[in-house]
Amino acid sequence: MNRLSRIHVLLVVAVLWVTAAYFVGARKAGDTAREASSRQLQIIALDLEATLERYETLPYVLSFQSEAAQALQQPGNAELIRRFNHTLRDIQRQAKVAAVYLMDQTGRTVATSNWDTVQDYTGKNFGFRPYFLDALRGSAGRFYGIGSTTSEPGYFIAQPVHDGTRSGKAVGVVAVKISLDYLAGNWRTIEDPVLLVDRWGVIFLSNRSDWRYRSLNALPSAARQEIEASMQYIGAVIEPLTALQPQPALHPGTEVTQAVGRLGWTLAVYPSQQPVVRAGLLWAFTALLLYAIALVSVWALHQRKRRMEERGLARQALQQAADELERRIAQRTGDLTRANSDIEARYAKLQETEHLLRSTQNELVQAGKLTMLGQMAAGVTHELNQPLTAIRAFADNAGTFLARGQPQRVQENLARISAAAERMGAIIGQLKGFARKSEAAVEPVDLAQSIRASALLLESDFQKVGASLAFDMPQALRVSGDAVRIEQVLINLMRNALDAVRGRDAKIVRVTLTRDGDDALVRVVDSGPGIADDVAQRLFEPFFSTKESGAGLGLGLAISSSIVQALNGRLTAANRRVEDGSGGAEFSLWLPLAAQGQTA
Ligand code: ADP
Repeated sequence: MNRLSRIHVLLVVAVLWVTAAYFVGARKAGDTAREASSRQLQIIALDLEATLERYETLPYVLSFQSEAAQALQQPGNAELIRRFNHTLRDIQRQAKVAAVYLMDQTGRTVATSNWDTVQDYTGKNFGFRPYFLDALRGSAGRFYGIGSTTSEPGYFIAQPVHDGTRSGKAVGVVAVKISLDYLAGNWRTIEDPVLLVDRWGVIFLSNRSDWRYRSLNALPSAARQEIEASMQYIGAVIEPLTALQPQPALHPGTEVTQAVGRLGWTLAVYPSQQPVVRAGLLWAFTALLLYAIALVSVWALHQRKRRMEERGLARQALQQAADELERRIAQRTGDLTRANSDIEARYAKLQETEHLLRSTQNELVQAGKLTMLGQMAAGVTHELNQPLTAIRAFADNAGTFLARGQPQRVQENLARISAAAERMGAIIGQLKGFARKSEAAVEPVDLAQSIRASALLLESDFQKVGASLAFDMPQALRVSGDAVRIEQVLINLMRNALDAVRGRDAKIVRVTLTRDGDDALVRVVDSGPGIADDVAQRLFEPFFSTKESGAGLGLGLAISSSIVQALNGRLTAANRRVEDGSGGAEFSLWLPLAAQGQTA
């Protein structure tokens, strides 16, 4: 059920509930009011009945008065009439009735209690009144109406008067008029409307004075005719109660009624509906309040339940999240452990591979050297052949000069032999250096120091050539390697540079030391002719040399390159681009810097 239809249902239930409460409350209050009214009605009815009954016998007793019969027989006997008038007035006063009077057979009043008042009935004819006609016919006559002489309403009770024999026809009628107005006076204290209604529905007595002589409903024409004939409400125009302005608030069906008297009267009390409505409203309001409280309670309970559910869900979600986290951590830990062992395995493999590579590299180098042996043999043969041939020639010369007895010339030739032998020794020495497979320990090496030591060894050579050697080493840098081999490389580079500037106008060699990332960078720059393109391609080849025979073996750069590689460094050659075009070669040597903690 959606929200809107829920509100509709709640509203409909509220309306039904409040309406039901109103009716229950109103009904209860109505019942109470009716009970109270009905008790009141009983009291009023009793009072009325008692009043009517009290005088019932009075005319009957009077009809037996001999004076009555006499008065009827001798209407001209003034004395008799006067005495009877007195008697009637005494009785009227004693009995507290409105009037007592005697009529002859025609209805003409013969004697009356009010003979000495302005309303004197004497001589008045009431033959048209129903009570007279009933009494003349021999039975008791009863009637309520407005007096035609006095214009005062009253209840009339009449009895026939017979002659002494009591067997014959009535000779006259004695009547008593009772005023009931005092009753209406008594009812004034009653708040609710009290009505005494005749059989036609005409209100003739009430505690609401303006309701008197009005009918509850429109009168039927038969009723009108009869009322007119008997002059019952003489002087009054009977109109329905509804014609009254403002209209009396009578709620048909709410009244309590009781039949009274012998003339078909109805006594009615209309209980006020105000308390009934008020009680209904009170019940409705209380019901509304209870409904609201119930709604609020249900709502609060519902909210509480929802909060609990939400809290439960949140807790569940939290638990789930925690479980998930735990699961993930476990998984991740497992993954990490696996990855770790994987890495370890890979590392071991890597180490193994590296080891293999290294040994392969060494072997390859070694193998390379072997393949080079052929070339080398040729080179060596060529290199050694020349001094050897020279030695042979010098020896021959020495022999000849010895035979001629020219010791001076012998000496000269011997010196030349010695020089050639020295040269051969030098060539062999270089070959030894290349063939040696060094496994020197790797240690931190102060590069600036190595550069200076190398320069010192070449100092005399530079002087001889007249070349200058300059340094630019702003900072001390340590690399890991082995000092002897690093110096071998540096000497090679510097010697090549010196060879390059030999015979040039400007003979300048410059060595710089800088840092390049994790490496130290040594640059050896010269003012020589630079490296020709075809030379550049073969620069690091063993036994490649452009120098004149005997000046170079072509092994310097090849050996240097293999040393640098073994130290995880790099060696490159390039031509300098200088503005004036006096290029020169530039050799760059990178060597990894020693780790921080290492000391020289
Ligand atoms: P060698 O010095 O015995 O010739 P190297 O291997 O040291 O053997 O050098 C090979 C060749 O590289 C040299 O013959 C030379 O032609 C060239 N070379 C080396 N250094 C320089 C340089 N600084 N300037 C010009 N050419 C050079």
